[in-house]
Amino acid sequence: MSYKEVIYMHNLSFSSLTLKYISALALIGFLSVISFFNMNQLIYNEQKAAELINLNGRQRMLSQKMALYSLELIQETDGNKRIWLRKQLSDATISMENAQTRLNGEEFSGFVQASLEDKEKIDTYIKNGNEVVALSEPAFSDEMKKKVREMIEKSNEVLLSIDNTVNQQQKESEARIAKMLYLQGISMSLTFFVLLIEAIFLFRPMIKTIRSETDQLVELNQTLAKLSSLDGLTGLANRRYFDNLLNHEWLRGIRECTGMSAIIIDIDHFKLFNDTYGHQGGDDCLKKVATTLQKTVKRSTDLVARYGGEEFVVVLPKTDKNGAIRIAEKIREEVEKLRIEHAASSTSSWVTVSIGVASSNICHDGWKENLLAAADEALYQAKNSGRNQVKVAETVGFIKGYENKKET
Ligand code: GH3
Ligand code: MG
Ligand code: MG
Repeated sequence: MSYKEVIYMHNLSFSSLTLKYISALALIGFLSVISFFNMNQLIYNEQKAAELINLNGRQRMLSQKMALYSLELIQETDGNKRIWLRKQLSDATISMENAQTRLNGEEFSGFVQASLEDKEKIDTYIKNGNEVVALSEPAFSDEMKKKVREMIEKSNEVLLSIDNTVNQQQKESEARIAKMLYLQGISMSLTFFVLLIEAIFLFRPMIKTIRSETDQLVELNQTLAKLSSLDGLTGLANRRYFDNLLNHEWLRGIRECTGMSAIIIDIDHFKLFNDTYGHQGGDDCLKKVATTLQKTVKRSTDLVARYGGEEFVVVLPKTDKNGAIRIAEKIREEVEKLRIEHAASSTSSWVTVSIGVASSNICHDGWKENLLAAADEALYQAKNSGRNQVKVAETVGFIKGYENKKET
């Protein structure tokens, strides 16, 4: 699969996965919102139910207060005290009436209300209270005594009515909690079920896809890295890769204090070769020479690279001068043995190469640039001495411009 195809497939499967993923999240979000509202409703209902029971409790207490004050009122002989008792009775009756108005109002319309009969009992009781308050002195009048007696008699019934209502409200509240908990349970189970389904049918394949896509991308990256480090024509390492590797090998050479040699190979009269056999012919020749170089240099740590147009470089770590000369000579022979016709060459009837060799004990001798410069210098000598030969740099000296730099 090509780079573009992989990227295209990658985008395609990711956008479809993203859509599924978003839908799955939206579903979970929806269920969570429902659950949230359910819970909110439950809390609201319970708050109202508590208020309701509180109000009923208040009525219970007020009804008793009313009975007590009215009883005291008809027994009290002290006029001032009676005024005070009348005031207390009046306050309790007003509070009872207010509570009754609230209980029967809009606020609690969604909750269990007292039955009509019970409501009526309480209303009559309140009316009685108001009448007792309204009766003027003397407080011992028969009318007042009669009314108070009526109230006392009814107070028990009022208590029963209130208790009855509270009981019903309690039951309703419990039923409502049970229903809400049931709904909550269903909503939770549904959420877990959806999560499970998503885990099996969405997240698992998603992870699988991501894994395989990642593998493909890693592979692709490796291919790209390899391609970017190779020379397009010959398939040898290119100059960029060569520079990096040389740095690396050079540092290792310094650490281990081992020698290193460099060989620079240049095809003789290559311009004339191109002129004679055309650019395509030149390219074919470069490929053949490159293949020969690769075959001749066998150690895994050795590096063969295309250095420039028709120049190649071989770096031989842990190799001394004699070893390097042997390899250079072998390269020269092998290229000659290829018997690539070169009619325009004044050196030979075949394509030949000139080679410069330099060796360095990199614990002491200068810079890697010096090593390559020395090999280049030796190559120049080989060219000047008639080509198709190997020349060796005697010493690897410091090249101009690098004298003052420290060894790295
Ligand atoms: P010398 O023996 O002194 O090395 O002479 P030369 O002609 O080989 O050297 P010169 O540097 O004058 O010419 C090198 C030629 O190599 C010039 C250029 O056209 C050719 N060349 C460089 N790169 C390529 C390439 O990729 N393909 C082809 N076909 N020719 C190339
Ligand atoms: Mg050249
Ligand atoms: Mg040349």
